[in-house]
Amino acid sequence: MKIGLFELADRLEGLLGVSHVLRDPELRGPYEVDWTRRWRGKAAMVVRPASAVEVAKAVLICADAGARIVIQGGNTGLVGGGVPLDGEVVISTTRMSWIGEIDVVSAQLSAGAGATLASVQQAASSGGFEVAIDLGARDSATLGGMVATNASGLSAVRFGRMSSRVVALEAVLADGTMISGTPGSRLGGHGYDLASLLIGSEGTLGIVTGVTLQLEQAPKSQATALLALDVGGRGAGGARGVVREGELVTESAVFTAGHLSSILRSQLRAVELFYRDGMDLVCDHARIPPPFQASHDAYLIIECAGVGDETAGEVAADIAGALLNCPLVVADAVATDAPTRARLWRYREGIPEAIASIGIPHKLDVYVPRMQMPGFIADLRSLARSVAPGWEVVVFGHVGVGNLHVNLLGVDVQSTAVDDVILELVIASGGSVSAEHGIGRAKAAWMPRVLSADQLGVMRILKRAMDPDALLNPGVMLPASDV
Ligand SMILES: Cc1cc2nc3c(=O)[nH]c(=O)nc-3n(C[C@H](O)[C@H](O)[C@H](O)COP(=O)(O)OP(=O)(O)OC[C@H]3O[C@@H](n4cnc5c(N)ncnc54)[C@H](O)[C@@H]3O)c2cc1C
Repeated sequence: MKIGLFELADRLEGLLGVSHVLRDPELRGPYEVDWTRRWRGKAAMVVRPASAVEVAKAVLICADAGARIVIQGGNTGLVGGGVPLDGEVVISTTRMSWIGEIDVVSAQLSAGAGATLASVQQAASSGGFEVAIDLGARDSATLGGMVATNASGLSAVRFGRMSSRVVALEAVLADGTMISGTPGSRLGGHGYDLASLLIGSEGTLGIVTGVTLQLEQAPKSQATALLALDVGGRGAGGARGVVREGELVTESAVFTAGHLSSILRSQLRAVELFYRDGMDLVCDHARIPPPFQASHDAYLIIECAGVGDETAGEVAADIAGALLNCPLVVADAVATDAPTRARLWRYREGIPEAIASIGIPHKLDVYVPRMQMPGFIADLRSLARSVAPGWEVVVFGHVGVGNLHVNLLGVDVQSTAVDDVILELVIASGGSVSAEHGIGRAKAAWMPRVLSADQLGVMRILKRAMDPDALLNPGVMLPASDV
């Protein structure tokens, strides 16, 4: 750094006020560790600008001092991208939480990058709209973080990911330049699509300060169904002999999910898969009774919305009709009122927290083509048994779009050897090492493996052009030595 930390802090305090420059280790603490507790480091200080102008000025002060910056929103990211590692200045966006009026004619809503998804969902809902993107971390995850990671989530099977919701962005670049209205965004056709460049850039090219979202009309009715699937002893490799652990039940779940998608079509807005272990963990951790009398091999949770004036009862009847041809579904619970639907969702949404309650997990968020999922799950389970019997592997995910969250417990927190073995398996299954959580620091070393040298070269050119001193999010997405 070109100046001392005290001088840098003085300058930032002059801009933001003493209470928004956190230097005390105790105050910095929550910003220095991620949600999983696997990624932790040290920040020089945490600054909390309240507007795009303050972000731009803070960035200029940091750039002038040669201080590296880590951008943090709700700190729910799962790939170590938003936590400082080595004395960076953390720019927290949480004070930029303003939410504008809904433009009801265009069905659009603008909000600050620090607005939480839940607060924006609530604002949209009060006007009869929905954000059409949802994830379990909604109470803390911010719009800026979701743009930066191109978040996907529970309703991606119907509405796609963040990139399909963003109409325009406002951002600050590494030299303090503010861009707003972003030409080339979905509604403009002028030149390079700068919004697309920032979506999914994980804070390596700029700091998102404001977002305009395309909303959807809220549905008039919804129904949620929790489905239990059993393959009996065959799932454990018994009766069919060649069937390996997890293979047959995953095959059944994938088949059932595909069948329901083809029948329920545009009504369907979520298809989630989890297994007996996830259900047991949630019931133990949350101290809630299991949904069915018996325990089952796997569970699907599906959600449907009414088309037009369809009532919730009619939607539930549509689900029941679609289930008639699903022989492997051995039990189901269908709910149409909000509290009961939330109770069903709790079995799926409680899994990450239940996992975190028993250890520090390695979280691998991967895409596996649905046809390959049964074989992948079986290989994963046998790997866990043969290579490291002490591991616990808990898998769940958005089966409707092929995203699986592989959680490993009992593995050395620092080691990446096990992650590497599993990511190799993903590639061998025709999948992708990253689905929706981003690359972060966790998977930066995998970039040369999954991108061609030419693709990586273009990424380096863009990074050097937009952030020549490599100030923003060092080590995220591209290894620091690589930029
Ligand atoms: C229980 C749980 C469930 C989850 N479910 C899903 C899911 O279904 N789908 C999904 O996609 N993700 C999911 N996630 C992951 C996480 O919620 C998302 O990645 C989310 O987009 C992160 O938002 P955040 O505000 O917390 O970002 P942070 O964690 O603060 O940051 C994430 C990354 O974005 C960068 N960043 C943050 N804000 C900005 C900004 N304003 N400008 C530029 N860069 C920025 C950070 O530097 C970092 O690299 C889940 C996480 C948890 C804990």
